[in-house]
Amino acid sequence: NQPLSELDPEIAAVLDGELLRQQETLEMIASENFVPRAVLQAQGSVLTNKYAEGYPGKRYYGGCEQVDIAEDLARNRAKALFGAAHANVQPHSGAQANAAVLHALANAGDTILGLELAHGGHLTHGMKLNFSGKLYEVAAYGVDPDTYLVDMDVVRAKALESRPRVIIAGWSAYPRQLDFAAFADIAREVGAALWVDMAHFSGLVAAGLHPSPVPHADVVSSTVHKTLGGPRAGFILSTEELAKKIDSAVFPGQQGGPLMHVIAAKAIAFKVAATDGFRERQQRTLDGARLLAERLSRPDVAAAGVSVLTGGTDVHLALVDLRNSALDGQQAEDLLHTAGITVNRNAVPFDPRPPRVTSGLRIGTPALATRGFGEKEFEEVADIIATALVDGTSADVEALRARVRKLTDGFPLYPGLQQ
Ligand code: PLP
Repeated sequence: NQPLSELDPEIAAVLDGELLRQQETLEMIASENFVPRAVLQAQGSVLTNKYAEGYPGKRYYGGCEQVDIAEDLARNRAKALFGAAHANVQPHSGAQANAAVLHALANAGDTILGLELAHGGHLTHGMKLNFSGKLYEVAAYGVDPDTYLVDMDVVRAKALESRPRVIIAGWSAYPRQLDFAAFADIAREVGAALWVDMAHFSGLVAAGLHPSPVPHADVVSSTVHKTLGGPRAGFILSTEELAKKIDSAVFPGQQGGPLMHVIAAKAIAFKVAATDGFRERQQRTLDGARLLAERLSRPDVAAAGVSVLTGGTDVHLALVDLRNSALDGQQAEDLLHTAGITVNRNAVPFDPRPPRVTSGLRIGTPALATRGFGEKEFEEVADIIATALVDGTSADVEALRARVRKLTDGFPLYPGLQQ
């Protein structure tokens, strides 16, 4: 029963250092968020000790009466939140959820059709070094070179040409909404299953601020930790007909014992996501992203060769295009990091620079909205970022850092938290 600080002071220092880093910087990685303390509590609980292979009522281990309650709560809350017939809340992560989805819907060697990684798709949608690219034949659609939007005529043409078993709609970096009904029409036309990966925008869907893919898709997968604001994990929604296939693809298809402490934390996150407070937070997330895209589209920014892909955003992130800027993605990420703002560099479609450098930034607002930021604060954040990108290597980083500190001091994160 030794406290962490005595048992392992090195790891204790990492936890303290990371808490401080999160408190004193502006977190704008689009896939990150801050979980409620109740989620930290569930994840740090005795549920981590429990083996529970199988599903509630059908376990391969004894002593599952308490964890069964947690998993049933998580499944039922997920179904109610998204209006789905079936939910599997066991995937350890988004990537593992996606592996199970493909395992359920396709056989090795079948063709899958998704958004190209370089145009905003995800590794699990067919990247060549990922299991999805190794096990399946991969066809891909990209965005239009002029509008940077997914063109449904192109998706249809690619589907007719490649005759995929599975069509994937979903993204890691795309600032607009996809037309799920059009994807479903194409899937029906070519006899494919439609899988929507809503990992990024599931919080917006839960809040009713983004169209839901659930009525259109055969299967929907998601992470819990992005806009949804819960523990780092995945889940899968499906039709009743596919329920059994999905469940057996997750266990025993992909995983052994589920992480019951994380499943309990998912139940908490789904409960929170059904509240008015969550909806209001998602609205601030969207408003903040819009303000950011608007500020980064002004003439002073354009004069520095910086712009925002598609000219704006309908979701929680903006994609900054630096192809005409003196800064590349790596330099811009480093500059903002020095000013106390955490973002990630991101390839833009048709990027002339290599993936390790890139010519873009992906900037998201979910974590700051969770921290409590509203219009006034997002305007200030947007102005700090715009000033940094316009001034580039001659930016007054100390002055920017002071502005960041004022914002972080005004919105304390996890005050008094004992880890
Ligand atoms: N799907 C999409 C669209 C994502 O953006 C991500 C993560 O970035 C994932 C799946 C994978 O989630 P995880 O990192 O939990 O494996």
